Amino acid sequence: FSGTSVPKAGTSKSSFTQWRAPGAIRIHGVSKSFGLLKVLDNVRLDIKAGSVTAILGPSGSGKSTLLRTINHLERVDDGFITVDDELVGYRKSGRTLYELKEKEILKRRADIGMVFQSFNLFPHLTVLENIIEAPVSLNRLSRPEAMNLARELLVRVGLSDKINAYPRQLSGGQQQRVAIARALALRPKVLLFDEPTSALDPELVGEVLDVIKELALSGTTLVIVTHEIGFAREVADTVIFMDAGKIVESGAPDQVLNRPANPRTAEFLAKVL
Ligand code: ADP
Ligand code: MG
Repeated sequence: FSGTSVPKAGTSKSSFTQWRAPGAIRIHGVSKSFGLLKVLDNVRLDIKAGSVTAILGPSGSGKSTLLRTINHLERVDDGFITVDDELVGYRKSGRTLYELKEKEILKRRADIGMVFQSFNLFPHLTVLENIIEAPVSLNRLSRPEAMNLARELLVRVGLSDKINAYPRQLSGGQQQRVAIARALALRPKVLLFDEPTSALDPELVGEVLDVIKELALSGTTLVIVTHEIGFAREVADTVIFMDAGKIVESGAPDQVLNRPANPRTAEFLAKVL
């Protein structure tokens, strides 16, 4: 992108060729403020299709906001983001040069699954209904197709016996596994996890991490905000450390976790390890 112009939505230029594989994310010079607080400060990040990226960093460093901009839950003030060749958002110095229409946003968001710390299942719907809701309402699948897929996904997350349960009848770990199945039901190119195990009792963390580990082998691009350092070391291709809205360090797990170059990374790791 250096020196090249900003792509138009939906077009593919030769400079994009290397990013054609499904699920590549490019975050280019993204900044975002809430009032006077600069939460993302010129963030640049390339995420290869099919890779697993773990994002670490202290509370308030902008991790959730970064994930939310990828999913277009937050608008950026400056910079742009593409998922594959498709523009997710672009603004330049407060002046909107290109902005997606709501309908396009919804369409693109369907390719980008998100799993939250607090599960966010629909409490009045059963497990099955939770999973089929989006693919059916977005006309991605017929109801019978969606139900078949839901059954498959529940096998994958080990919850076939809970298909007719309501969220309140499930443990936190089970609810989170349903939330993962629900995100997968749209067959996303990219799956974003925002501290998926932080709300769980310690004994339930492993069952959710095991499901994510298996997903890591499936070729879906995963971006995971987590404080589980051991998990990041084992599963991530790239570990990123954020502080005060900036990516201060990025590299292979061994480098970032065992030999951090930045003193803030070292300080953070000393606290959480
Ligand atoms: P992290 O996930 O790393 O803890 P966040 O991205 O949630 O950090 O938040 C970064 C900073 O932005 C925090 O200071 C937070 O209070 C602030 N912030 C996040 N969302 C909003 C919002 N909608 N309005 C105002 N401030 C926000
Ligand atoms: Mg957060």
